Amino acid sequence: MSGPRTADGAAVPILMYHAVAHEPRDATRRLSVTPAAFAEQMAILAENRCTPLTTAELAGIWRGGGRVLPDRPVLITFDDGYEGVHRYALPALAEHGFPATLFVSTGWLRGPHDTGGGLDTMLDWGQVRELAAQGVEIGGHSHTHPQLDQLDDEDLRFELHRSAEIVADELGAAPASFAYPFGHSDRRVRRAVRAAGFAQSLAVGNGLARRRQGPYALQRVTVRRSTGAAEFERLVEGRAIGRTFAMDRALTKGYAVVRRARQARRKAIRTRG
Ligand SMILES: [Zn+2]
Repeated sequence: MSGPRTADGAAVPILMYHAVAHEPRDATRRLSVTPAAFAEQMAILAENRCTPLTTAELAGIWRGGGRVLPDRPVLITFDDGYEGVHRYALPALAEHGFPATLFVSTGWLRGPHDTGGGLDTMLDWGQVRELAAQGVEIGGHSHTHPQLDQLDDEDLRFELHRSAEIVADELGAAPASFAYPFGHSDRRVRRAVRAAGFAQSLAVGNGLARRRQGPYALQRVTVRRSTGAAEFERLVEGRAIGRTFAMDRALTKGYAVVRRARQARRKAIRTRG
């Protein structure tokens, strides 16, 4: 596996995971991976001598922080905060000494800030602290996982500041990195993310990340339940991306429909009192 290079410099695969589970719920199934597949994928990265970085490390290097990009850099990222990230992914990461990044929707995690929106069994804050202690960067992913570009300015600020504040309270350090719920952002959202104190943010886009994308629109590639070992290798090499792009857009849309239906249901419940 050779790191793809362009005139712009390195192109870095940022892998996007969601749930790691034997039996995920329907809403998270297609974007989940089995514990065995995740372990195999980490072994493939190790065999290919890839060097995983955290999101803050990559952004720092691209900001000119003094360090140089290692050979075959890769980022391992998890969105939302599913419980299997602690139960299944953490041991596999620890086996190889791989760092990763977890982007939490603070209102979805079990515990005092739970708004009841989580799509599957979610992490609690003790598990998040254990992940952080073992080299997982904890980033923001909003409070209740809305489509941020659909919110008015006040709600947008609330979603960003509330999530940053909760992570800072629970972990003792403000989060530096953010991932857009559903992967979407526009200029107003990117500015608000920056104003909330985040130094970099990840989108989806299904392409490799490049420095020229800028720190608030770094692209990721999706790893899903149907991703076999050979396709995973192609993903990490930056191939097999065009072919899956249309499908991922369909998945993201399906996920948004699930969210809207849940929101409508909650609204109806609130209206009824
Ligand atoms: Zn998400």
